[in-house]
Amino acid sequence: METEAEAIKFMACAGVFLFLFCFKKNVFVIEFFSKMNELEKVVIVGSGCAGLTAAIYTSRAALSPLVIGGPQPGGQLTMTNEVENFPGFPNGINGFELMANMRLQAEHFGTRFVDDEVKDVDFGEDTKKIVCERNTYLSQAVIVATGASPKLLGVRGEKEFFGGKGVSICATCDGSFYRGKDVAVVGGGDTACEEALFLTNFCTKVYLIHRRDTLRASKPMRERTLGNGKIIPIWDSIVDEIIGPEKVSGIRVENVKNRSKTEIACSGVFIAVGHTPNTQQFAKYLHLDDDGYFHRKKDSFVETNIEGIFVAGDCADKTYRQAITSAGTGAMAAILAEKYICRKI
Ligand code: NAP
Repeated sequence: METEAEAIKFMACAGVFLFLFCFKKNVFVIEFFSKMNELEKVVIVGSGCAGLTAAIYTSRAALSPLVIGGPQPGGQLTMTNEVENFPGFPNGINGFELMANMRLQAEHFGTRFVDDEVKDVDFGEDTKKIVCERNTYLSQAVIVATGASPKLLGVRGEKEFFGGKGVSICATCDGSFYRGKDVAVVGGGDTACEEALFLTNFCTKVYLIHRRDTLRASKPMRERTLGNGKIIPIWDSIVDEIIGPEKVSGIRVENVKNRSKTEIACSGVFIAVGHTPNTQQFAKYLHLDDDGYFHRKKDSFVETNIEGIFVAGDCADKTYRQAITSAGTGAMAAILAEKYICRKI
């Protein structure tokens, strides 16, 4: 009886072992074949406004582009509530909806999408190699449209309370959690004003903390912001610390003119102090300017120091940074990528 039990135990263990072995082997086989990629005509890195416009153009040109979605599919506009300045929408359009429509339009013409993130590239050969987390892609031409990421302040409390504990970079995403509460927005540009205005839909008071005494935002945005009774500007001030202990309970601000420090009670802090271009994975091959944006060839909006590699959108633009200009450079990159591929045939 004892031997029989042991035999059953042995067979069960052997069965489990065999199953795991086959499963693992199968996974290896799947992985191996998934890594054997075909040479693409165009790979587009990034799925924001620039990337998706490039996808619409290159797919209409029958280049069957492959879009690598990146860490934030749809890009920054998916976090924008109302886009009022994109032509064709007299009543404005929600940013998420705009990007969803662009993706549908790209898919309609045959764009393929993969959910992957670039880790490294090799642009040293004629065939360009893009090494991602899940796979490696080979292409004749590449359009880099990686956008820019929101900057943080680097003050005490920011990291500790980020995501769910009171510090946020997206009012559209998190604003409704602060219904009936007081919050602070840091920054003086269009984003900060847009965030502050959006938060007035939920919050009692919105402190706008800006390091100067005039807003950088566009005139209509400035007027709407300063004309809103719920928004209280705190001029000439920087954040010294975001205060807890468990969740945000306030911020300490420092006046940059007289160095006085004041505590403001609030439950949420929304950071809107600009962006950093997402270019570092490409820096080995593509020239960057002093601020880290892609450097473009003289007299070109989208050509880089490497033939067949084009850049579009916020990763290469620190002047305009608009949805419409991103779309414009996406179209330019697509047209030149098509010409480049035709020359090579
Ligand atoms: P931005 O225009 O660069 O403004 C960043 C703001 O943050 C500035 O007011 C800056 O102060 C402040 N700032 C920067 N670093 C700081 C720090 N460490 N501490 C405190 N304050 C700091 O960035 P943005 O507002 O994100 O806008 C980016 C672009 O997108 C702009 O071209 C804008 O027009 C566009 N945009 C358009 C819309 C729209 O049209 N609906 C919406 C959002 C954004 P200073 O002013 O002193 O430099």
